[in-house]
Amino acid sequence: MTKNTKLQELKTNLLNLNNRFTNGEIRKTEILKGAPNYEYKRGVLPIIFSAPHSVYQIRDGVIKWADSFTGALAMYLADKLNCGYMVRTYCANDDPNYEDKENNSKEIKNEYLKYLTEKTQEDDIALIIDLHGASNLHKENVDVIHGKNYTAPKEVTNLIEKHLKALNIKSLSNKADFSGGAVIRQIKQRTGVNAFALEITPSHRKVKEENLQNIESLITAISNFINEYTK
Ligand SMILES: [Zn+2]
Repeated sequence: MTKNTKLQELKTNLLNLNNRFTNGEIRKTEILKGAPNYEYKRGVLPIIFSAPHSVYQIRDGVIKWADSFTGALAMYLADKLNCGYMVRTYCANDDPNYEDKENNSKEIKNEYLKYLTEKTQEDDIALIIDLHGASNLHKENVDVIHGKNYTAPKEVTNLIEKHLKALNIKSLSNKADFSGGAVIRQIKQRTGVNAFALEITPSHRKVKEENLQNIESLITAISNFINEYTK
């Protein structure tokens, strides 16, 4: 298969998966049927790609647009790398990544976060990789987010950074605390399981002809990370 055929195939796969997150009619039918607003699948490896912002969210009453293609990427990576996924399939008037910041003891209210926490324990998950769109801070980067309390050990975040940089993807490790980050923080606090987030710049996730090579590099970097992490 030529390089271009491979990239075109990647494009088709990601666009097909992305319909799940953009097709309002499908989502409307699911909501009417009372389906949950997320979809979870365990893979062979105990690693989950999570995409809590795969559809738009409501944070403090304000609509925040989806981190586009993160849902499709989570499902694609899970399938390709024998991992699992947790994706948001429609908005339920909340934001899983913005659960009360100091919520250490209270029960988790957010359905997505609650279910992910339960499954992490039930299914003996070892690592959660939470996929997001990049903040305005580092527009060209795929940054590794672990919060000031290190939701994953430095060896793990250094390893993913190493593989990103090897594929010429600019990356900074971000230990600052930020307004979101509830998924990795709550998973670490409540289950002890390692978690980090990747904040992906639009040029490495939005499926357009000129971005295909970047997206492929990101997928390869994550794949190389998983191979070394599970060795
Ligand atoms: Zn996000």
